[in-house]
Amino acid sequence: MTPLLIATWNKGKRRELQQLLSDLPFALMGLDDIPGLEPVLETGGTFVENASLKASGYAKQSGLLTLADDSGLEVDALKGAPGVLSARYAGEGASDRQRVEKLLADLSNVEASGRTARFVSAVATAISNGSIPNISVGICEGRIAFEPQGTGGFGYDSIFIPAGSEMTFAELPPEIKNQISHRHSALEKAHKFLRNLTRDSAAG
Ligand code: IMP
Repeated sequence: MTPLLIATWNKGKRRELQQLLSDLPFALMGLDDIPGLEPVLETGGTFVENASLKASGYAKQSGLLTLADDSGLEVDALKGAPGVLSARYAGEGASDRQRVEKLLADLSNVEASGRTARFVSAVATAISNGSIPNISVGICEGRIAFEPQGTGGFGYDSIFIPAGSEMTFAELPPEIKNQISHRHSALEKAHKFLRNLTRDSAAG
């Protein structure tokens, strides 16, 4: 089977990406499986730029077909922050819990109607020379809870309530999150591209 490198160091993201790609005929690999990789810096200003930098950078280093996700939370009352800085919102080395606490503190004066937000995921696939034949974006609309609820998932899941639900992503079973999430929606499009790629290589 063709190897496909899942280019993230984030264990929560990697678990979701692996589940969402598990029906495709690829041997899924993680960054930990390849010794000596230099971290690719996320210097882009958009999710698409950062996903492309990561997919291309790790594909060139590993020589493998590589898929990268760049994602984050956009909160309307914070003018779209934390956005591409979601992983670093409470400073380098902070925990998920510290980021959640900072976001709740920043929204402490914002009432229910103003707590609208969305998760965004950009997924880029690069081939071994670093070029990127496929990029897709997925969005999940919702709102920010007043306090953390639930223990599942990762990142901001405990305070994000997707539209149409009364429960946070951290309270919903993983298979439900995987049906409605921003990552699922971005990957649906990448999935088609990857499936065609396997058909093409099987044909010839
Ligand atoms: P990056 O894509 O590695 O820059 O990091 C994205 C950050 O956004 C993660 O570290 C999480 O804090 C947050 N994030 C992205 N997707 C999700 C999700 O599905 N649930 C919760 N937090 C997420």
